[in-house]
Amino acid sequence: MKAHHGMYIGGEWRPAAGADTIEVVNPVDEQVIGRVPAGTSADVGHAVRAARAALPGWAATPPTERAAKLAALRDVLVARKDEIAETVTAELGSPLPFSQAVHAGVPILVAGSYAELAATYAFEEKVGNSTVYHEPVGVVGAITPWNYPLHQIVAKVAPALAAGCTVVLKPAEDTPLTAQLFAEAVAEADFPAGVFNLVTGLGPVAGQALAEHPDVDLVSFTGSTTVGRRIGGTAGAAVKRVALELGGKSANVILPSADLAKAVNVGVANVMSNSGQTCSAWTRMLVHTSQYEEAVGLAAAAAAKYGDRIGPVVSAKQRSRVRSCIEKGIAEGARLVVGGPESPREQGYFISPTVFADVTPDMTIAQEEIFGPVLSIIRYEDEEEAVRIANGTVYGLAGAVWAAEEAEAVAFARRLDTGQVDINGGRFNPLAPFGGYKQSGVGRELGSHGLTEYLQTKSLQF
Ligand code: NAP
Ligand code: MG
Repeated sequence: MKAHHGMYIGGEWRPAAGADTIEVVNPVDEQVIGRVPAGTSADVGHAVRAARAALPGWAATPPTERAAKLAALRDVLVARKDEIAETVTAELGSPLPFSQAVHAGVPILVAGSYAELAATYAFEEKVGNSTVYHEPVGVVGAITPWNYPLHQIVAKVAPALAAGCTVVLKPAEDTPLTAQLFAEAVAEADFPAGVFNLVTGLGPVAGQALAEHPDVDLVSFTGSTTVGRRIGGTAGAAVKRVALELGGKSANVILPSADLAKAVNVGVANVMSNSGQTCSAWTRMLVHTSQYEEAVGLAAAAAAKYGDRIGPVVSAKQRSRVRSCIEKGIAEGARLVVGGPESPREQGYFISPTVFADVTPDMTIAQEEIFGPVLSIIRYEDEEEAVRIANGTVYGLAGAVWAAEEAEAVAFARRLDTGQVDINGGRFNPLAPFGGYKQSGVGRELGSHGLTEYLQTKSLQF
């Protein structure tokens, strides 16, 4: 795999300030596939200076011109789609067809959506005797995770650039090659120097330096609740804007009138997709007691069919984290119906698709984000209990409801404390706001709601 030895700062690849590097490992065969520089606070300082210097010019660039650059960026992503998919597969381990369709495909949609929004958004509006300008917040520090390496980057960088902000990105240490490829795409799309900057590095070093930098106006973070809470605290103390996309423990609620087989099959596929490393995955399946054993049987069969067709998880550390969650599920008395903590292969960070039945709402596996291919099936007696269980975690990111009639599912969905609900298997919409209630985060990504995160208003009275 191609790796750059420098940081992309001020429109060029520059040598890193320090000599330390990060090894990038292929989770399928555990081989080192590249090395990138481990950035320090000095690199972050250079990058923030470049972003600050580029801000006035970019903020003053007419939105239609910003839109044209974003459209060019989308076109580069389209032209380099195969390379993107291969890179994500190499460093994340996801099967190539999934990388092509989702890891490369979705960022193209999102970049395209912001090219369009930049051209059409009302950056100026009249409110009574006032003219309200929607102006860029300033320099954005973006910190992204590894689970959807390019999507998480584009979901922050595209709206920030559309808004007229400039960006410093610190991507996950496990997937920096995709981030370097994105920087190449930005260069190819010919954005002005310093509008987008990349510093690879470790979270507690480069990430923290970026979050704490006094000249960063907004920190946009996606990742664990633990780190998010800390970044929120730092931002709060500095009175700077912050957006946090954190974890989830979403419920897939199957109402008795639903098409049970379809709801279970789609639900299992949702959890196993990306090896369970999806913050919005429906990791809790809620089934009425009258259909419970039938649903468990269907889920077991569906999960077993995946076998080792799903990819590994991203790292040895992630594998041991997921394994210890599975062991905890067994120890707390849940019934293991498929899978388990043992490795299905000698090599690679694989975890077997795992399904637990007889999970009670208070068990660790029903409360904590696992971030692996593990499904917990929970029983409910009536609708009130289903609502209570679905809402009974600290999270509120996503969810699903299945019923014979849409109206029944919608009525139930309105009672859920969560930012997104798919009705009877509704499709992903890249324009719909994505983000969490409760401890799943602060702020929204995607579409016009994602754009407004990077804007602040100025009102002129006449
Ligand atoms: P994480 O540590 O929160 O990583 C997210 C990003 O934050 C990475 O770029 C990381 O850098 C960086 N970071 C880490 N510590 C930081 C700090 N002190 N200051 C600033 N930035 C920092 O998440 P993880 O360790 O990769 O995964 C742990 C768990 O988080 C997973 O098991 C899962 O439950 C959850 N997670 C959630 C999402 C989501 O989409 N909501 C995504 C990924 C993970 P490094 O890469 O160097 O750590
Ligand atoms: Mg980490």
